[in-house]
Amino acid sequence: MVFNTISIILIGLIIGSFLNVLIYRLPLNISLFNPKRSHCPKCKEIIPWYYNIPLFSYLCLKGKCHNCSGHISLSYPIVEIFTSLITYILYIQLGLSYELYFLLCITYILITLSFIDFEYKAVPTSLLLILMLITISYLSWYNISTLSIFFIFIGGIVTIDFFVTFYIQNIKAVVLKQDALKEQRAIGEGDIPIIGMIGGILGFEFGVVAIFLSAILAIIPSLINKVLKKEIETPFIPFLSLGFIITYTNKNNIQDILEGLNLA
Ligand SMILES: [Zn+2]
Repeated sequence: MVFNTISIILIGLIIGSFLNVLIYRLPLNISLFNPKRSHCPKCKEIIPWYYNIPLFSYLCLKGKCHNCSGHISLSYPIVEIFTSLITYILYIQLGLSYELYFLLCITYILITLSFIDFEYKAVPTSLLLILMLITISYLSWYNISTLSIFFIFIGGIVTIDFFVTFYIQNIKAVVLKQDALKEQRAIGEGDIPIIGMIGGILGFEFGVVAIFLSAILAIIPSLINKVLKKEIETPFIPFLSLGFIITYTNKNNIQDILEGLNLA
């Protein structure tokens, strides 16, 4: 058991390290295979393997490049720790099963999308497509009963987007005399497939809970922006991902709360 725990955590760290490569390279259109070895984004020096060990190298080098002492972003160890943690939690909950492999694929894609969204406020369409294909194939094979909810959630969110975007572009923009609003959409393009995935995997009730939870979590940074009087656009994908993961891993607790509130 101890051996299992340690190996799962180490595997999680290694996968997290690979996700860091995706997060760095995909938006810049750098091939995943060329260059094979990672290099420092500042001095371009190739990182020797002994300085490229997930988490440990970051701690040993105290977040600095071995060559130019340039600052290495804290997001690298955060991605590794988070990936490792979620891999371990899902393994404990699901054991070695198809559901585990499927959920790990989904969460790894969500982590990659979230960190890219934080940095660029846009995400690669290819990753969204992979997320949708994996979800549809899994549901068709193992959970056909909720496949329709996948499409219902996508349809629902596109409909909401249509109305709210119309309001923002044609009413709010005119009343506030802000031309910038005429280009704004209510829901990001990347959010739509993720919302469909949430409904398909969690089912209707838990799906609604997850999206509601995401919206509440997303209010926190918006409030901080208001207090600090900063105009930072809040990406929604990280909060959708968090809402999904929290709901998926706490279904029993949420069920209890819903029953307590007489909602289920
Ligand atoms: Zn460097």
